[in-house]
Amino acid sequence: MSSKPRAVVVGAGPNGLTAAARLLKDGWDVDIYEAASTLGGAARSSTQLFADATVDLGAAGHPFGVASPAFRELKLEEHGLMWMNAPIEMAHPLDKAETAILWNSLEETAAGLGVDKKAWVRVHGHVVDGIDKHLANLLQPMLQMPPHPLHLVRFGLPALAPASLLGKALFKTEQAKALLASSAVHAITSPDRPFTAAFGILFGALGMSRGWPFAEGGTQSIVNALVSVIRANGGHIHTGINVRDLGEFGPADAIILNLTPRQVLALKGTNLPAKQVKQLNKWKYGPAAYKVDFLLNAPVPWKDSRVGQAATVHIGGSVEEISFAEREVAAGRMPKQPFVMVCQQFVADPSRGNTL
Ligand SMILES: Cc1cc2nc3c(=O)[nH]c(=O)nc-3n(C[C@H](O)[C@H](O)[C@H](O)COP(=O)(O)OP(=O)(O)OC[C@H]3O[C@@H](n4cnc5c(N)ncnc54)[C@H](O)[C@@H]3O)c2cc1C
Repeated sequence: MSSKPRAVVVGAGPNGLTAAARLLKDGWDVDIYEAASTLGGAARSSTQLFADATVDLGAAGHPFGVASPAFRELKLEEHGLMWMNAPIEMAHPLDKAETAILWNSLEETAAGLGVDKKAWVRVHGHVVDGIDKHLANLLQPMLQMPPHPLHLVRFGLPALAPASLLGKALFKTEQAKALLASSAVHAITSPDRPFTAAFGILFGALGMSRGWPFAEGGTQSIVNALVSVIRANGGHIHTGINVRDLGEFGPADAIILNLTPRQVLALKGTNLPAKQVKQLNKWKYGPAAYKVDFLLNAPVPWKDSRVGQAATVHIGGSVEEISFAEREVAAGRMPKQPFVMVCQQFVADPSRGNTL
């Protein structure tokens, strides 16, 4: 029998695989159980939808992936992962103003924002400069002392505001307001909500430092790299097993349930305290995302040709229009003009053909 501590991971999405890889690196024995026949959860890609073209079934753009301290520690690039950046990180076309552009540079982005140049640098500059320290603060468990408290204080004050309000207070141009608000919507909530400025600033700063890249060959490449680390370190992966009872897997020193609250509640053998069960029962799920894949016979004929050079395009109009659409979604209604995020993988990665 192994003298190593043993962990069981249920759910082989990117988070479960990352946890497994890190435990293996720390000397644990790890079994991973996945219900589907393929690994990766919402980070899988498929070549089955369109003739041979790779389609990302869920996640496509990876600002947090490329900047992830956990991924860096696992050296995923040594396991085949390659990040691919487009010439422009994000473009936001506007009806009544020039397209707003997020470049992989603070200076270039600010230069495109006219009178808002200084204000843009003031709110984003310190986050871009200290991006790793900010991520270390923000990605750690919330109840621990942050490793860089001064950075957190500086980040925290403007970030408490709704992104739409902070944009109105700081900026005069539609472009700067739209860049901040639409970046905030990546939190899948209305930019009118408190704290959304934090997401807007962070996503913008990631774009201007590390970019919003794709994984070469599709998001599945991230999953494949994680699986390669797991296999190289002796992990055991079991697919096609829909776990229903934790008692089936023998003794374990740690069990990681990489699942949603309802999925956890459906499991037998969790022995969760009553208080935690009550909290999980109260969990309110957010709105769903609706995703469409297109196989193109030519690049999109955007009015502004720069939009065709962008990894991600935000289609949602002005801040007011975005806020209205997201409020409708939050109220459970389908907006007439929803906020749409378009990923153009082929602009960064020639292996992706013309799949959007
Ligand atoms: C349409 C869409 C677009 C997205 N776009 C982006 C993007 O562009 N960029 C980005 O960073 N993120 C994006 N995301 C979010 C990203 O995909 C998720 O954050 C990520 O996949 C979460 O990983 P996870 O490992 O926590 O869970 P998941 O990926 O959900 O994986 C959970 C796994 O658990 C398995 N499972 C469930 N129950 C059981 C059980 N009882 N027994 C065994 N296995 C079980 C499931 O089959 C699944 O494989 C997107 C998500 C969606 C849906």
